[in-house]
Amino acid sequence: MPHLDRTPAPVNNSPHVVIVGAGFGGLACAEELGGTNIRVTVIDRHNYHLFVPLLYQVATAALSPADIAEPIRRILSRHPNIDVVMGEVTGIDLAQRKVMLADGSFVPYDRLVLATGSSYNYFGHDEWAEVAPGLKTIENARAIRARLLMSFEQAEMCEDPARQTALMTSIIVGGGPTGVEMAGSIAELARHALARDFRRIDPRAAKVLLVEAGPRILAAFPEDLSNYARRKLEELGVVVLTGQAVEKIEPGGVTIGGRFIPAGTIVWGAGIKASPAGQWLGVETDRAGRIPVAPDLSVPGLEGVYALGDTAVLAGDDGKPLPGLAQVAKQQGEHLGRALEASLSRGEAMPAFCFHNRGNTAIVGRSAAVFDFGKRRLKGWFAWVLWAIVHVYLLVGFEKRVLVTMQWLWRYVTYQRGARLITRDAPASPLGQEAQPFVEPKRRQG
Ligand SMILES: Cc1cc2nc3c(=O)[nH]c(=O)nc-3n(C[C@H](O)[C@H](O)[C@H](O)COP(=O)(O)OP(=O)(O)OC[C@H]3O[C@@H](n4cnc5c(N)ncnc54)[C@H](O)[C@@H]3O)c2cc1C
Repeated sequence: MPHLDRTPAPVNNSPHVVIVGAGFGGLACAEELGGTNIRVTVIDRHNYHLFVPLLYQVATAALSPADIAEPIRRILSRHPNIDVVMGEVTGIDLAQRKVMLADGSFVPYDRLVLATGSSYNYFGHDEWAEVAPGLKTIENARAIRARLLMSFEQAEMCEDPARQTALMTSIIVGGGPTGVEMAGSIAELARHALARDFRRIDPRAAKVLLVEAGPRILAAFPEDLSNYARRKLEELGVVVLTGQAVEKIEPGGVTIGGRFIPAGTIVWGAGIKASPAGQWLGVETDRAGRIPVAPDLSVPGLEGVYALGDTAVLAGDDGKPLPGLAQVAKQQGEHLGRALEASLSRGEAMPAFCFHNRGNTAIVGRSAAVFDFGKRRLKGWFAWVLWAIVHVYLLVGFEKRVLVTMQWLWRYVTYQRGARLITRDAPASPLGQEAQPFVEPKRRQG
């Protein structure tokens, strides 16, 4: 296949910076280079920037996908020096300084920024992904939402009580922030939003299990916040199983401690691995597949190549690797964008990146969240309000901020979830959808 050169029209013959990935890191880097004399090309496989931290709200019918995604072209349209290419990057030709795309085209670069993020790690059990999707993309969130809602629909039409219970059981694997947020949100969906909408089943009887292999949930948070989150989840009716590793996941359920637990919905949130960017470069990565970078975010030994965010690893002040968080990726993107501009426009040296911790947070449920600022900690209602303010502020675009705020206020007052749509083809629960003669199930009392 002939290779098509997708270099944008030159701007004053200036150097060409190519950024792969328009997530938190890549987009922040591009914004810093916007309005300069430097040619910039942003490549992403999607045409939108996704606000991943609120994906769990799409998976649990609280928000719609469009509420948390914004077209990349629209975000960057005010910068004439930035070109956007929608495409799947498949490799890097380091010798010829070209980014290779799946359609056979390429984009040449003078400086390359890899910000391709991460995906879920099934620790050698990739076959589990079909049954227990992770939560990383809009497709994942829609699939989980469809499966969750469909399980309740199937339970409503089912006469066998054991099967009904199984369909109304959700198992969340992994007690990190994603697992905690999913478990709390599913429990609230069942106990409030769905409670009065069914005639034969009682959604309030739905079971939500959160399974964590380590000794406690929210292991990255101080112990008192982790204990608080557990207590709040249990108040919502979530069963928290710690110190229990999942042995097997198969259509219809999960085996934990030798016991098979049937479930209609299974969600994976147990581990992260970096994008294959390290393989494209042929560099040695850490165990999570991340590219070790120098303090200025350059990839040692590869001139003009930088990596940041979830796909890179850099030690913080305490010597430990910086966490895979949006704030790390965003700060690194901003830093690198500014540094590249100063270097390419004025020949300045590339400074070292320094991370400023703005606080790590997780929401447990309605009016309950935890915030860890290092020396200071917050939990409860005030942390929850702060969580909401921070997330609305970080959303891209004024319109999104207004829309999401309005929906949250409405939900807070009414307990309703407006995005309860089953839109995916064949979203049957993994318990199967074998043909059964229709027998009218008993209506519930009251
Ligand atoms: C469910 C969930 C909840 C989270 N909640 C929080 C939170 O509350 N707070 C927080 O700080 N962090 C949170 N995180 C972590 C945070 O989302 C990540 O740390 C952050 O997204 C990393 O930013 P990034 O720019 O490195 O990668 P990403 O934001 O993942 O962006 C990577 C981009 O690269 C593109 N891409 C990847 N491969 C290719 C390719 N081959 N070709 C073209 N394009 C490609 C992708 O489409 C994507 O747009 C959460 C993560 C998850 C999964």
